[in-house]
Order: sequence, then structure tokens, then C-alpha cells
Amino acid sequence: MENEMSKTPKLQAMLGAKCPRCRRGNMFEGGAYRLGANRINIHCPGCGMLFEIEPGYFYAAMYVSYAFNVAEGVGICLLTWLVTGNTDSPWLYLGTILIGLVLLSPLNFRYSRVILLYWLSPKVHYRPELDKPPIPKHD
Ligand SMILES: [Zn+2]
Repeated sequence: MENEMSKTPKLQAMLGAKCPRCRRGNMFEGGAYRLGANRINIHCPGCGMLFEIEPGYFYAAMYVSYAFNVAEGVGICLLTWLVTGNTDSPWLYLGTILIGLVLLSPLNFRYSRVILLYWLSPKVHYRPELDKPPIPKHD
């Protein structure tokens, strides 16, 4: 029986950093800005998928993260220019970029891995049959 109500939209699952296979389990433990808790889970708590598909898989996330940083750097530059209209001091731009990228780094860490698993991993597929509310545990 098809139950359309239980399907998690892809964008919602990506924003919530959910497992790409079941879109239910959290990829990370803790919130992005909880110090020391921004760690990726080894297995999906929902369907048991091994997130690090092969050893060192997340090294590839560095490239995604790099692209994020470049895009954010350009964005911060533009924003700084729009707000201050500064055309004299390169230090203002370097400063805002540095601070901005440090503040954004927990999100880069998280979403570079999300993008890697959702868009750049041909072996990972959404399995709607796993996209179900967790079975209540009986003690
Ligand atoms: Zn899962």
C-alpha cells in the first residue's frame, strides 16, 4: 500500500541533515553549533546505513566544503561592499571574510557531507520503504 503522507521531501531531509537512504535518521549527533558535538554518526540511527561508504570517503567532502567557502567568501565580500561602500581598505574585506567563514564552518562541515551523500554518491539511493516513523521500542 502506498502511503504518500509518510514520504519525506528531499529538500527537507537535506536541510535537516537526515540520512539519504531513509530520510529519517540524523546524519549528525547534536546541533551544528553545539561545541564538540558536530560529529557524523557512523551508522544511520534509522536504517543502519553506513554513512562513510568507504574508508576516507569524507575526504571528498573537503572539495565541496572548499566550493562553499569560495561562494560564501564572494557573498560576504559583496555584502560588506553593499553595507559599507568601502573601496579603500582590503583589510575590512579580509576581516569580514575570515570572521564569516569561521562562523559558517560548522554548517560547511555538515552540509558538505550532506551534498556529498545526496548528490555526489551514485551508489546511495533513497529507499521510500525505509522512510517510516521509527517503530516504538518496547522495554
Ligand atoms: Zn537511514
